Amino acid sequence: MKKLRLFHAMSIIMLIFSIIQLSSCSDDNDDIIYDDTTSQVLSDADKSALLFMLEEEKLARDTYSYLSNLWSINQFANIRNSEQTHMNLVENLLIQNNIDYTVQPVGVFNNQDLQNFYDQFVIDGAVSVAEAMQIGATIEDLDIKDLQDFLDVTTHLDLIAVFETLQCGSRNHLRSFVLGIENGGHTYVPQFITQEEFNIIIASSQEQCN
Ligand code: MN
Ligand code: MN
Repeated sequence: MKKLRLFHAMSIIMLIFSIIQLSSCSDDNDDIIYDDTTSQVLSDADKSALLFMLEEEKLARDTYSYLSNLWSINQFANIRNSEQTHMNLVENLLIQNNIDYTVQPVGVFNNQDLQNFYDQFVIDGAVSVAEAMQIGATIEDLDIKDLQDFLDVTTHLDLIAVFETLQCGSRNHLRSFVLGIENGGHTYVPQFITQEEFNIIIASSQEQCN
């Protein structure tokens, strides 16, 4: 957000500068070259982040598809659809920036860590509804942490906008799963974000995420 605000502040400063130039030599405005449509170049780290997040959103989508078939709980079907939207947002950025990528079939991942998560989730998720809800919270917990790590290092505005939307969605999903866990008389202990970050999210209400 700080970076966005800085960008907006710089845009305003450049706009004022342009107006001053216009008024001082209104017969010649060829030297006004500021163009706010100039696209930024993705760093190698940005590209890796997009490819990783495409598969992490797929991990969420595929796991919720599986859990939705197993247990008749609306949350899994609804949130599964949200994850498809998240995958589409990341895919759009990959396409716009001419980055090659592959979307593997359901339950198959290029990244071995994500494959290991999926393989474990389908085993644990079959145990009980309570376990399935714990897996939901675990996925959102992981998602928020990984997105934050990428947001901390990128300066690419399109990437920041998409990752912030994904993270907003994950906070809503986390609240939804934790509510389900608590209604079942259990608790969720955060495994990736801190207890303090978790408490702040759970204490706040559902958000509107673009
Ligand atoms: Mn998501
Ligand atoms: Mn989610």
